[in-house]
Amino acid sequence: MRNNDMARTQHERMHANALPQHSDSDRRIIDAPGPSLLLYQVWKGNNKFCFNGRIILGPDSRSLFLTVSLIVVPVILFCAFLSQGLIHQLPLYTGILIVALCPVLAVYVVILLLITSARDPGIIPRSLHPPEPEDDGYVSSISSDWPGSQNGPPGIPPTKEVIINGVIVKTKYCQTCMLYRPPRCSHCSICNNCVERFDHHCPWVGQCIGKRNYRFFFMFVSSTTVLCLYVFAFCWVNIMQIMDYYHCSLWRALSKSPVSGVLILYTFGVAWFVGGLTGFHLYLILTNQTTYENFRYRYNLKMNPYNRGCDPGKTYKRGSQSQLMVLT
Ligand SMILES: [Zn+2]
Ligand SMILES: [Zn+2]
Repeated sequence: MRNNDMARTQHERMHANALPQHSDSDRRIIDAPGPSLLLYQVWKGNNKFCFNGRIILGPDSRSLFLTVSLIVVPVILFCAFLSQGLIHQLPLYTGILIVALCPVLAVYVVILLLITSARDPGIIPRSLHPPEPEDDGYVSSISSDWPGSQNGPPGIPPTKEVIINGVIVKTKYCQTCMLYRPPRCSHCSICNNCVERFDHHCPWVGQCIGKRNYRFFFMFVSSTTVLCLYVFAFCWVNIMQIMDYYHCSLWRALSKSPVSGVLILYTFGVAWFVGGLTGFHLYLILTNQTTYENFRYRYNLKMNPYNRGCDPGKTYKRGSQSQLMVLT
């Protein structure tokens, strides 16, 4: 019980140290007399904001137009050129259902894409001042003339080490955000923010993928795979129907419905990409890793401190006060 309390206190102190602390003077900057400024109006990251800061986009959010068109255009082609054949060749309601389900699935995929892109990925707001070493229990053992990291403020050690499930994990001090990153947090150089449980910066979504939008990203990738396989399968059904109806060869059927051929090739290529990505993220979810950790640290199952094994209810055990060390 005492250990739990200590660990909780430790966690709270660690978290308090990691998150920015706004002093009275800081608040006055945001709530300055005259026209008061909201946080998004004084945002120092590279994000774009819409609807008075209600929507937060990445700096490369223009790529959304390309991604949406890569999803929507094939579906429009499918509905425009294949719907008639499928509705006539298949039993009436089956054909209508198959054709109608495709745009519904596409709308679902696009909504997931937009949620992933417009949602805060888990940005930790910047601190306005570096943490003060004398106020921090972890660094109190460090001499006040600690040189600090390159270009960093003196007295601030560049890293701290915490023990999580028996594995030493380094947490770094972010010079830009002026805070100690909590474990699993990383600074995205494109967005210029520290993001909790940072996975990667996705150029297709134009946003960081992190703690708060990862589930929508995974749902987006996996449902895009389903959409690809759906279009691929029913393009083949359409070709088979043409071959049956005209008693012709595959090439003749493809020449009668060239759009089917193009969509088969397109969805075959894309399905490999998004299907592979879905499989990779399924593996990451099962082993509780992020893409960043997988590429950076190459955890095996024994080394990954966040791996919960087969117990989904297991929580991370963070080092107690005596185990928590400031080494470098
Ligand atoms: Zn940062
Ligand atoms: Zn980013």
